[in-house]
Amino acid sequence: MTKTPSPRRQANEISMMLNAVFGQDRFPVRIRELAIEYSRKRFPDDPLTDVLGDKLPGFEGALAPARDGKRGWGILYNSAITSPGRINFTLAHEFGHYLLHRLAHPEGIYCTEEDMRSWDSKNRKVESEANEFAANLLMPFDDFRRQIAARDKPDLEMLSDSAARYEVSMQAAVLRWLQFTTRRSVLVVAREGFILWARSSEPALKSGAFFRTANVPPVEIPEQSLAARRASVDGSKGSAEFDAGVWFREPCEEMVLFSDRYDFSMSLLHLGPASSRFEALEEEEQEETFDRMMNRTPGSSWLG
Ligand SMILES: [Zn+2]
Repeated sequence: MTKTPSPRRQANEISMMLNAVFGQDRFPVRIRELAIEYSRKRFPDDPLTDVLGDKLPGFEGALAPARDGKRGWGILYNSAITSPGRINFTLAHEFGHYLLHRLAHPEGIYCTEEDMRSWDSKNRKVESEANEFAANLLMPFDDFRRQIAARDKPDLEMLSDSAARYEVSMQAAVLRWLQFTTRRSVLVVAREGFILWARSSEPALKSGAFFRTANVPPVEIPEQSLAARRASVDGSKGSAEFDAGVWFREPCEEMVLFSDRYDFSMSLLHLGPASSRFEALEEEEQEETFDRMMNRTPGSSWLG
């Protein structure tokens, strides 16, 4: 049996094909049409034939085999979800399951909101792989870096423009940016005063700037933070500089966005260059900190 190429490699191959056909300025990726056409050409005996909204209470989407002994597959998404960005990500995720996992899962795969969150979890490898495929296909690094350079400090408008370009949720765009930025930045999603989940860029993580939220009691957001003081923000967005001792043991800038529709706040925290405290740590300690964080479960959410 031939080994299935990695999620990233499969996504990159399709991206190169799309670049060749449509040029580089070709976003957002139209997953519906792409998935059906690509599968028909590539796997004519076992294609994806339908992409449909359906009643799927409790699920975001599914990859389901055709019924009544027919050949082929369908991608389903929860028709109660109205956010185009969230739907688009789900479709790309299910397309990933089709390419990567259908042979091992002839009964199909049904995906919950939590599945969409686990993109770096070893415990949910199948879901992580589908998310890795989706992120690479919808938001290729080369194009994203042309929108926001790795060393840039984007504000929420810039990231919102990226979310629109790729037709994904704001959260998905920020998470993808956090994967390639060379800055120390942290995304914190909170509800009712507590952190739901958080994600750090690698330079932030390696310098000890992170919030542990798995397997610990609920973590409160700082009282002085913008996220905790909705009334201090004009409209749904705001930003402020904070001294050491508010979010971290060092100063940071918080850019906050309140989502009334989904009842949460997103705080993007920008820190300065790595602190000397961390640079003073032995390399071994840095590795330990990093490993601890990378092994955490569950991962962050791509939803929004
Ligand atoms: Zn899934």
